[in-house]
Amino acid sequence: MAAVLPSVALQVQAEVPALTRRRAPGPGTDGHLASKKAVLLPSAAAGCSLSLLARRRSGRCSRASVLLAQRRQLAGDEADGAYFKPLVDGDVLTASNPQRLVVAVMVVLLLLGLLRVWALLGSLSWQTSVCCLLAVVLGVEFADFGTGVYHFSVDNYGSAQTPIVGSQIEAFQGHHEEPWTITYRDFCNNCFPTCLATMPFLIAFEVFCSQPYVLLWALIACAGIGFCQEFHKWSHTLRSQCHPVVNWLQDVGILVHRKVHLRHHKPPYETNYCIVTGHMNPLLDRTGFFTGLGAIIASWTGVRPRCETGERFDYLLKRRSK
Ligand SMILES: [Zn+2]
Ligand SMILES: [Zn+2]
Repeated sequence: MAAVLPSVALQVQAEVPALTRRRAPGPGTDGHLASKKAVLLPSAAAGCSLSLLARRRSGRCSRASVLLAQRRQLAGDEADGAYFKPLVDGDVLTASNPQRLVVAVMVVLLLLGLLRVWALLGSLSWQTSVCCLLAVVLGVEFADFGTGVYHFSVDNYGSAQTPIVGSQIEAFQGHHEEPWTITYRDFCNNCFPTCLATMPFLIAFEVFCSQPYVLLWALIACAGIGFCQEFHKWSHTLRSQCHPVVNWLQDVGILVHRKVHLRHHKPPYETNYCIVTGHMNPLLDRTGFFTGLGAIIASWTGVRPRCETGERFDYLLKRRSK
């Protein structure tokens, strides 16, 4: 079912754009989230199930819409709010103050870094402008590559008990089973782990690097990786629920597009790992970069990647089916 849901998302988006019914928060539902995030997938499914019979009769309701409605029913009645609960135990979707603080510090560090770049440049000529543009492009694409490598790593190795990144590994496996949950995450809740992970590198560059273009490259790379989960979230959010600027950035290829990321959400989850621009995906997939990386790791450690073994986290599958 998880394999079909991303395509379902796009299909529902294409077929039922007018499904804007808001759901009332149930006892187990986070009211803040339910009211803030209009419809997205669950409500789209609810709308679809309401009109399912009529649409079936009219012959316009696709198999994908039926499957999405069935998934909605499997999740239980919307009043119990279970559909909005994260799959991983202990996970929450709202942002805490420490998470907000981490993201705020990240933003401040980025702004301070940009001021330092400006000070180091002195003046802006056309030559410095071209070099800055090049640094920005390289920074963005490096961030795309970096998220691909990280995504490949947590998708394919380790478990929930792995030190430091165990929760990320479990969260990414949970994301494969219920990809729509990310669309309900608050911004700071969604971005704080990657902001926290990139912050030491950001600080190191700001303290030790005095070459403006290298520093600018590092700032953009850290920003891209730090906020990659928000770009990822937008690639799962219905077009009608995204800001027009986000839709435009996806359409012109600056941010990873829904259709591009959708290709990752097909078992065994072995392609399209990059989630910033998605530009590196064709290069890395066609050259077999991750297949080669997996082979090297297997030759060193004897551990084959999960995309080869087909291993899934059984406890997540069982919890999902409850
Ligand atoms: Zn994945
Ligand atoms: Zn995803």
